[in-house]
Amino acid sequence: MSQAEFTISDSKVICYFDTSFTQISRIVPPENLIVVTDENIDGFYGHLFLPFRKIVIAPGENNKNRAGADFIIDRLIEMEADRSTLVLGVGGGVVTDLTGYAASVYKRGIRLAFAPTSVLAMVDAAIGGKNGLNTGFLKNIIGTTYQPEFILFDYNFLTTLPAVEWESGFAEIIKHACIRDMQMFETLERLSLHDYRQDASLLASLVEENVKLKMQIVLEDAYDRDLRLLLNFGHTIGHAVENLHAIPHGHAISIGMVAACNLSEKSGYLHFEEAQRVVRLLERYHLPVDLETEPARVFEILKSDKKRDGGFMNFIMLQGIGNGMIVPVEISFLEENISAVL
Ligand code: ADP
Ligand code: ZN
Repeated sequence: MSQAEFTISDSKVICYFDTSFTQISRIVPPENLIVVTDENIDGFYGHLFLPFRKIVIAPGENNKNRAGADFIIDRLIEMEADRSTLVLGVGGGVVTDLTGYAASVYKRGIRLAFAPTSVLAMVDAAIGGKNGLNTGFLKNIIGTTYQPEFILFDYNFLTTLPAVEWESGFAEIIKHACIRDMQMFETLERLSLHDYRQDASLLASLVEENVKLKMQIVLEDAYDRDLRLLLNFGHTIGHAVENLHAIPHGHAISIGMVAACNLSEKSGYLHFEEAQRVVRLLERYHLPVDLETEPARVFEILKSDKKRDGGFMNFIMLQGIGNGMIVPVEISFLEENISAVL
């Protein structure tokens, strides 16, 4: 086990890397703990939760809404949770977002921690303190910023993670490498999804690097307000595509990253060969790089993006691999080029 501590705007977040979930009782007295998880995780790992009180939610992005949050809050009321209670979200991004939100508003905030069980939750959703609920098509339109006291990383959970969820998680990892870390990009080029699934120590170091990279961006964001926008690389067009087609988040983001690379190339920031290198890396991790879609409809959704500011929109481009940057792009430029880049 290794441990790292991050201080984010006065909150201390401890990461217990490469540890076993069973260590939880050494961190928090069992009587103070309420586990929040989903039916899938509970099916596989229910035996680990026996010593604790438990709230089990329905799985899936469709439940990441106000009804899902209310369900957790109602159970917390029934259980008479108070400020000594620690709510532990054990699951993927849906569980961590719903648990984070419920813990932040119940009694104006009670103790929170996460044990992420998906690659995506480990490197992305559980990190940074943001949570979000969807309403209809509007993703993450409701939410709070609330840091967990600690995050426990037990890679054994990943043995049951479905293949498509591994791919989704690697889309965010490739995103991190593209915007910030050429060395990580090269390591990913050398290895494969198979390698990471076989070798826990390779995975452990990759997860740690990604957690530190995202934490660093969140920390620096306190001084440089826009820095966190870099994490939106691939997400502007990706979310639009995700709204139109029922495809997994990571797949949509992969398509979005390809489009953002093409736009970066059109704008003169990225060489053709570099854009191709990103495409090849996505393919290496079984991610889709093109899609039958209707660019005009994608553009209609883009126009209403919350990052739009009048005739411009902040768009994340790559100025070379490993170097994301925020570029105000004219909406008309997007309209003219959307069909060429998708
Ligand atoms: P995310 O991709 O944001 O982590 P979810 O929370 O929806 O999203 O998790 C994706 C799916 O994978 C859900 O159906 C969830 O129940 C399932 N899941 C998460 N972790 C595991 C795991 N360790 N083993 C099996 N299924 C898992
Ligand atoms: Zn994402």
